[in-house]
Amino acid sequence: MKRLVLKFGGTSVGNIEKIKKVANIIKDRHKENNEIIVVVSAMSGVTNDLTKKANLISKNFNNKELDVLLSSGEQASSSLLSGAIIDLGIQSRSWLGWQIPIITNENHTASQIIKIKTNEILKYISNGGIAVIAGFQGITKNDRITTLGRGGSDLSAVAIAKYFETDSCEIYTDVEGVLTTDPNIHKKAKRIDKISYEEMLEMASLGAKVMQPSAVQASMIENIPIHVRSTFSDKIGTEIVSEDNIDHKKSVTGIAYSKNNAKVSIVGVVDKPGVAADVFEPIGKHNINIDMVIQNTSLDGKTANITFTIKQEDLKKTLSIIEKNQQKINYKKITHDEKLAKISIIGAGMITSPGVTYKMFRSLANKKINILAISTSEIKISVLVNEDFTQEAVKILHETFELS
Ligand code: ADP
Ligand code: ASP
Ligand code: MG
Repeated sequence: MKRLVLKFGGTSVGNIEKIKKVANIIKDRHKENNEIIVVVSAMSGVTNDLTKKANLISKNFNNKELDVLLSSGEQASSSLLSGAIIDLGIQSRSWLGWQIPIITNENHTASQIIKIKTNEILKYISNGGIAVIAGFQGITKNDRITTLGRGGSDLSAVAIAKYFETDSCEIYTDVEGVLTTDPNIHKKAKRIDKISYEEMLEMASLGAKVMQPSAVQASMIENIPIHVRSTFSDKIGTEIVSEDNIDHKKSVTGIAYSKNNAKVSIVGVVDKPGVAADVFEPIGKHNINIDMVIQNTSLDGKTANITFTIKQEDLKKTLSIIEKNQQKINYKKITHDEKLAKISIIGAGMITSPGVTYKMFRSLANKKINILAISTSEIKISVLVNEDFTQEAVKILHETFELS
């Protein structure tokens, strides 16, 4: 007998018909003599709708109340799914985060899991029942409801795999697995058989929505293999595993992109120690994430330009913070660009294959796509381009690195 955690995303339970289909998949997996714990997301669109409503009340809607609101999506879907399973003649029960409990820290809207109590659910599944756990939710030691960040049901599933010591952690979604790029932007995206935690973490952090970055990180730390697969086909899906299980035949494994980036340039700052700190300290204190940073010095070596990128939604605030600090930073002028996309190629294979960087730049240049900023790590290269070129850039890189 095996113990499985099966996570179904919002797209897999997007309507009643799909919920019934999912209940049947669960029934089949249960018939194979498995103990089953299900984790379920809110029906697709629900979390977005609730977020919009909160924003209509206030742009600064209280985080603790937001968590109560957002978690309601999973309360609805977990009971609907459990009810659908019962209707198929199988014993099932839903559990909300607080009922288990899944204890988290107080970092509302992006909480980390501290502990999960297991005895009640273990007893239930060992007696043949199917436990349906509402994903995305937790509770603090002070009994306040929390959520785990957008896409957080993935993290619920990984944490449950850890605490319940399951034999597998399966992420059911609306695509065949992890693909070489987002199929919505390039039809030739292909399923990846096996991908390393490190590569998946880069893919997810750089925009591939299929897995939540925190969930990938948790699985990497705990060495929990993840199986990403489709709710709507029987194809084998993708294994996310440790690096030593992978033979990198290609230099690039996948391509990710994110839109809504903005770039700010501070021109003519005096080039002396402490200037960069003076620029970034007040921005950091406002919890604004800086992504790429470029500094170049003028020919006479006396002044420098500092360029950095942020999320578009943070642009207004960032500009006003810098302007407020003009005297301290002492710059000549400040310019900005909006609507930029970050396109990234990811692959552990690039460590051992020279020439990846120039190939990337050359193929973009051939399409007359201008690169505005670059950042690299051992297993990824990201470039910033005008948002209008997103699709074209992804497509050409997909061809260049033979991913189709
Ligand atoms: P779920 O509702 O199951 O959590 P998500 O919408 O969060 O599903 O993630 C699946 C979606 O991620 C896919 O439908 C696809 O549009 C998008 N996606 C982006 N990049 C990739 C990629 N590299 N591989 C697979 N899917 C991707
Ligand atoms: N419902 C949450 C969201 O949309 C969590 C999840 O789907 O994983 O972000
Ligand atoms: Mg998701």
